[in-house]
Amino acid sequence: MINCTEAKQLINPFIEGTAGLVNTAAFLRHIRQCPQCYEELEMGCIMKMAASDTPEEEEYDLNRLVAGLIRKRKKTLTLTTILAACGILIVAVSVVLFLLHLNGVI
Ligand SMILES: [Zn+2]
Repeated sequence: MINCTEAKQLINPFIEGTAGLVNTAAFLRHIRQCPQCYEELEMGCIMKMAASDTPEEEEYDLNRLVAGLIRKRKKTLTLTTILAACGILIVAVSVVLFLLHLNGVI
């Protein structure tokens, strides 16, 4: 479990999508339990929006923006976890096949 100081350092990387998987997962866990850091994330999003030149008519809903960002990061996290799991499975199957081959089964 990361603390608030660590979580705050992850806000910008999280928004930019450069936090990395482990940090993203830790950050998501943290903001679920920490309203202060969730607010900091909202602030970070506002700053980001202000810094980028979003057209005026695209008036944004902050709650939806933050929720959308979190959903996007969770999706990346899930996808990567599934891919990693598949990778492990393939390695495991290869090892089993190799051992069977060594023992003359196949
Ligand atoms: Zn916190």
